[in-house]
Amino acid sequence: MTKMYRCRYLAHGLYIHYDCFRHCHLSIHSPGERNNNFIVPYKGKKDKINWDEVFGIKNKLVKEMRNGKIPPFCKGCHWIEEFDETSSEQFLSDFDNYIDMIWIGHSNECNANCIYCFSYKEIEKHKTVKGYDIFPLFKELIDKKIYNLEKNPYAHVSFAMGEPTILKKFDDIIKIFVKGGNKYFALYTNGIHFSKMTEEVLARKDVEIKVIISLDAGSREVFKRIKKVDKFKDVCKNIKKYALAARKSVPSHLGVKYIIIPKVNDTKEEIDKWLNLCINELEVKYLIADIEEKWFVHNNGEVPEYVKDQLRYIRQRCIDEDIEFEFFDRALVLNL
Ligand code: SF4
Repeated sequence: MTKMYRCRYLAHGLYIHYDCFRHCHLSIHSPGERNNNFIVPYKGKKDKINWDEVFGIKNKLVKEMRNGKIPPFCKGCHWIEEFDETSSEQFLSDFDNYIDMIWIGHSNECNANCIYCFSYKEIEKHKTVKGYDIFPLFKELIDKKIYNLEKNPYAHVSFAMGEPTILKKFDDIIKIFVKGGNKYFALYTNGIHFSKMTEEVLARKDVEIKVIISLDAGSREVFKRIKKVDKFKDVCKNIKKYALAARKSVPSHLGVKYIIIPKVNDTKEEIDKWLNLCINELEVKYLIADIEEKWFVHNNGEVPEYVKDQLRYIRQRCIDEDIEFEFFDRALVLNL
């Protein structure tokens, strides 16, 4: 029987980068192929978008994947699903031309300098990219129902580059999508800048925002070493306020992450400080663990046993303390 593959993001994802559209924000498992995760160039409203071309490219790749051919930039990605002709679900809607997952990555402005930043290379090459006016694009996506909430009411908007909460129009981005009927957002923030809008949406029951803050440390010194800014106390203060807001709706909508960076924050002592701080002082109800991407890629995904033990340890503490827990991308593929 022929093995068939699919990825829901290949079919319906749109990563809005500062100079192009991509299928997703990933390709982390095929770093050399990352640039091929590309759909069309786009640098703002002067570039007219040919949506037939966008979906034509997507459909071709979707078809190839169904025939067993995985695009090189997807190889090893944990989002790939496998099925065959006898499976009850044949995912024919993968050929429908709509977007239901948007990652906003048109700017890499940030108020920290994390040593592991996804944008690091971009920043080195292009310096800070302030981003174009993204609203005409959002308007087009919503008005033409390319971002289609009828096809998928669970459609999602995610902020995926730089520090979103310092974007001048961060609040307006949330507003335009909420006005368009969108209910689901994901926000990856460093937590340095307090966003009143984030606090408000966290407390709402009719709109859902998942806020993930990578604290990565249990102490000011280690935080400073990773983020290159002395803002540990501010972040803790903001986490506490967000946690309080999330308790008014779903407490686990605020998550705090620990990205293990070998030789930087990989001691049990630091992990314990982080766990105790998050659980006991900041009253966070959802914790996440991951491994630093650049280190992971450099080591071809070979993770030493002591790091795996620490990941298991974090998970076990969460189970014991009745805290929701999740492994993210790199840690997830280890199948611990
Ligand atoms: S399989 Fe992974 S890399 Fe490929 S489009 Fe899907 S999420 Fe992106």
